[in-house]
Amino acid sequence: MLALAACIPRGEQRREPPRAATPARAERNSPETLQCHIDLAREGIGFRALPDQRFSGGCSALGAVQLVNIGTPVANLRAMTCPLARQFARWSREAVQPAADQWLRARIVRIETFGTYSCRSVNSQPGARLSEHGFANAVDVSGFVLEGGRRITVQDGWRGDDERVRRFLRAVHQAGCRRFNIGLSPDSDAYHYNHLHFDMGRGPYCR
Ligand SMILES: [Zn+2]
Repeated sequence: MLALAACIPRGEQRREPPRAATPARAERNSPETLQCHIDLAREGIGFRALPDQRFSGGCSALGAVQLVNIGTPVANLRAMTCPLARQFARWSREAVQPAADQWLRARIVRIETFGTYSCRSVNSQPGARLSEHGFANAVDVSGFVLEGGRRITVQDGWRGDDERVRRFLRAVHQAGCRRFNIGLSPDSDAYHYNHLHFDMGRGPYCR
C-alpha cells in the first residue's frame, strides 16, 4: 500500500478521496504486535500468541492472540488481534467490575460474548465492506453473570425496567467507547439489539 502510494505523482495523490480500503493489519512478528505481547505480559494477562491465518473472502486473523486469563472468565473468546485483546482486558478490569460495584453492588463472575472472528460483511449485508469481525478485530458482548447467578443481558436490560441495570450497561458501553475505536449499542441500529459491539477499526465512533 505504501509502495503503491509512493508511485502516484503528488498532484494526483492530493485529489484522491480518503481511502476506503482496510488499514494494514499487523502480523504476528510485527513490532506493534510484539509490543502488544509485552504490554499484556506486564499487565498480568494470560494469553497465547496464535499463528497468522488468512482465509478465503479476504478475511484473516493476523497478529492474533487467545486470551487465557484476564481475571474474569469470558465466554466465546477465540482469536482476537492483540490490540483488541489488550483493550478488552483493560475494559473488563478497569470498567466492567467498577461499574458493577457502583450500579449493581455485585461481582461479575462471567462476561458473555457472541465471539470475535467471523468472516462476514458489515451487518451481514451483501455488498457491504468486510466487518472488523472478518479480521478478528471486533468482539460482541451480550451479557454478564453476577455472583449468585443473576444474568444481565444487553437484549433484556438495555431498555428494561431496572434502572440500575440500564445505567450499568450504559456505563460499560461508554467505557468501551473510550478504550476501543468503535463502540455500538442497541441505540446505534436494529442490528445491535442484543449486544455491544467493540472494534479496533477506523474510529472513533460511539453510539
Ligand atoms: Zn460485532
